[in-house]
Amino acid sequence: ASKGPVVLYWHRTDLRLHDSPGLQHALFLKPAAFYPIWTWDPHYVFKARGAANRWRFLVECMKGLDVGYRRISKKQQLWVVREGPTTVIPKLCKLWGVTHLVFEADGDWYARQRDEEVTKALEDVGVEVTGIWGGRTLFVESEVVKGNGGKPTMSMGQLLKAVDKEKLEVKRPVDDVEAVPEPGMDVLASLKDLEKDPGQTKPKQQEGGKDDQNAEARTKGEATEFVSLLGPNGDCGVPTLDEMAMDPKDAETPHHGGEENALKELKRVLDDEEYTATFEKPKTAPTDFEPRATTVLSAHLHFGSLSIRRFYWGVQDIFEKRRKAKKTVAAEPMNLIGQVLFRDMYFSAQYALGHAFQGEEGNEVCRVIDWYLPSDGRGGYEVDDEKAEEWFIRWKEGRTGFPFVDALMRQLRREGWIHHLGRHMVACFLTRGGCYVHWERGKEVFEELLIDHESASNAGNWMWLSCTAFFMGSRRRLVRNYIPELANFDKKYIYEPHKAPIADQKKWGCQIRGDGTEKGNGDMKTYPKPMFDFNERRQACIDGMKHAYDIKMYGNDKRRLNGEWKKV
Ligand code: FAD
Repeated sequence: ASKGPVVLYWHRTDLRLHDSPGLQHALFLKPAAFYPIWTWDPHYVFKARGAANRWRFLVECMKGLDVGYRRISKKQQLWVVREGPTTVIPKLCKLWGVTHLVFEADGDWYARQRDEEVTKALEDVGVEVTGIWGGRTLFVESEVVKGNGGKPTMSMGQLLKAVDKEKLEVKRPVDDVEAVPEPGMDVLASLKDLEKDPGQTKPKQQEGGKDDQNAEARTKGEATEFVSLLGPNGDCGVPTLDEMAMDPKDAETPHHGGEENALKELKRVLDDEEYTATFEKPKTAPTDFEPRATTVLSAHLHFGSLSIRRFYWGVQDIFEKRRKAKKTVAAEPMNLIGQVLFRDMYFSAQYALGHAFQGEEGNEVCRVIDWYLPSDGRGGYEVDDEKAEEWFIRWKEGRTGFPFVDALMRQLRREGWIHHLGRHMVACFLTRGGCYVHWERGKEVFEELLIDHESASNAGNWMWLSCTAFFMGSRRRLVRNYIPELANFDKKYIYEPHKAPIADQKKWGCQIRGDGTEKGNGDMKTYPKPMFDFNERRQACIDGMKHAYDIKMYGNDKRRLNGEWKKV
């Protein structure tokens, strides 16, 4: 047995070796044996699955960390075990004689419940569990919430006041990890032994033992549980998309995960001092996509391949230098510091509200608006149910007939990332700016498709957008890139292609007709007519919003059923 602590480090939201307070804490324990692991969580793998672009980004982040460990230690890697954490972690602790479990704490509702379950199971067997707060956000959510009187932070003003009241500070990054102790035993051999023990795991060997029962379901993406702790090659390697039953063709996002990429991208931003210091969000454009107008670091911040504090202090140091030199520095909240403060505002709001923030029952900050909620037939201010369902599907598939909306929705599907103001645009269009469809439906689509999906930021921004001003603005290049059907259209008609004369439509190789599901004919493509008269819809939305503000109701568990308001 090892002399000294045996530490299991559980990576989740911190796929990096730089500025990781959780990892630093684990190493301060001076482990005699050290096991950095990633566990596949059935909640994410089978339930809240998301699109292939996000999985590819995640797998690249895992690969980056794996390479990082192999660089600093001959005997280490990221040990990936294929089983849910609540069941596998207690087994691993027993197997390796673990004395301490350490991880970066995570305030998301699901994560909090999961971590409580794991903590309870381990404390019962005497393993010390430490979740280190403050690696994922600028401020610790519970401290912000305390400063805000236990309430969710619903504005930047509330966040800053709470920070001030509690005297919270953003800590400087901790040192990068450059060495780690070795594992205390042959990890792979021990896991193989564990698999052989029928009391420990539940491998489901088919007759002949060659394949497992779930193999077919897994390749179809229909599996519901893991069958082996080890990967298809019998090791603890980082999985491939194939193992996750995902088609690489669905994962062609140009954005790449991994710590090295993250630091390179951050450097690119910070090296351009003028850009960093004068960045003002409203002045950046969704239509600039080569290069993109904002930092595109959100997915790295989500998976923790980039430390939020490295970002924050990198920017602050430039601001400080420029202030001393009396050079321009953009103001909050439009500047880059303001952007990451918004992120913290949503995280703290979600922390206070728990699962309700996601649009579940009991979300008391959410104004009641009788949106149409496709597929469950609830509510709907003066909206034809079938029409709204159709509009929702056409919005989701990028065939509304409004080229700017369609270009953005196709960019979202193809690349998993769109500019913030593009997100504004499509969110407003779906909700109060056109379709009057419930924001929760839009939130679910973003949840599936975004590579940077962050439950707090996504739900928070959807709530905000569905109740605030409608943003509209566009440029031609974005449309031509993401709607190649319209590539040859004259600029006069690029936003209203249905107004182009038929002869011109034919000349430019695309007829404006149907609902976007028709197949073209030879070289002649099709693109849909607008799915509704925008001015008519605009007025209907204004009327609906006025009504919603007049009735002054909160809590999104109330819906209008057959003309009457009910709690559902
Ligand atoms: P930059 O402008 O370069 O900003 C730097 C960082 O600040 C971002 O990486 C991000 O971490 C943070 N940030 C910036 N704006 C916001 C904001 N409004 N809210 C929260 N954080 C912000 N962001 C996500 O990270 N995940 C989501 O799931 C998400 N869903 C959204 C849904 C809608 C409807 C809207 C309108 C916005 C959403 N955002 C989300 C916020 C924002 O659009 C993205 O963070 C941003 O566009 C990411 O690009 P960037 O890294 O270039 O941002």
